[in-house]
Amino acid sequence: MAHVLNVEGLTVQFTGESGRVTVVDHVDLQVGKGEALGIVGESGCGKSVTSLSIMRLLAKNGTIADGRVELDGQNLVGLNEKELRKIRGNRMAMIFQEPMTSLNPVLTIGKQITEVLVLHRGLKRSEAKETVLELLRQVGIPRGDEICREYPHQLSGGMRQRIMIAIAIACKPQLLIADEPTTALDVTIQAQILDLLSTLRNELGMSLILITHDLGVVAEMCDRVMVMYAGEVIESADVRTLLRNPKHPYTIGLIRSTPQKSRGLDRLYTIPGSVPAPGEQPTGCRFAPRCDKAMTVCLEKNPESIRIEEGHHCKCWLYGGD
Ligand code: SF4
Ligand code: MG
Repeated sequence: MAHVLNVEGLTVQFTGESGRVTVVDHVDLQVGKGEALGIVGESGCGKSVTSLSIMRLLAKNGTIADGRVELDGQNLVGLNEKELRKIRGNRMAMIFQEPMTSLNPVLTIGKQITEVLVLHRGLKRSEAKETVLELLRQVGIPRGDEICREYPHQLSGGMRQRIMIAIAIACKPQLLIADEPTTALDVTIQAQILDLLSTLRNELGMSLILITHDLGVVAEMCDRVMVMYAGEVIESADVRTLLRNPKHPYTIGLIRSTPQKSRGLDRLYTIPGSVPAPGEQPTGCRFAPRCDKAMTVCLEKNPESIRIEEGHHCKCWLYGGD
């Protein structure tokens, strides 16, 4: 499969009060054309920073210290802001957990979508109306005329997320990155938004990176999944393999702590302890302080990622390595 996105050795550092810390550490990932990759892990594992680095939208104190981010063979690391602006919104787009932060509160919805079409697709303002309404229909808003006159704060969270998706797909991007797109929404609305993303992915042949802490969502939406812990990829496989045959103790813990309809909530497992802060990772395996399988070697040396089977990799001393 041809890769739309190829990330190699991505390493991201942030400068804070205590100096420079590594938040994403040599992450490799590939996304094929039309493929959906899920990135899972608890908060603070580097999922969002990974995706913001791909978009080259890191905060000012963050830098890509090493690695490549290739979109269709073009390395985005090293491009200047002007070059990046042509790529963002056109060839790749991103939606976030809280759409309010990306929408302009003082512009009507109609004006905001129009601006995107003028800027990225070169449409004249006077010609954009039909396209705006068509985009709104595509994201499940039939009465677009009314919505166009509204301001973001007048809409529900679910509706705002639909608007963000409309803006994101306005230029038919090859790649859409969705960072916890439904976390802030009610359960029924969550399902509708996820359905919408799946439908659009199929209709537009888009690749999707879905960032979530919810393995249930990944199971329904994604082809492949990558588990991140403390800035590293600790396991990756196709979704079925990972759910049926998880290898890394962290992945096993995540699966056990995912609510399932058949299980009572009262028996839900939680992984003891918490993710180490960047700069405070233990030597050796970063999960060792929380792992009930930890051995002496785990405390001394960080394991390499090894191949379990075709397309399934895991970074854990239980499965060998030297
Ligand atoms: Fe646990 Fe050791 Fe595997 Fe780390 S390397 S997850 S500590 S068994
Ligand atoms: Mg996040």
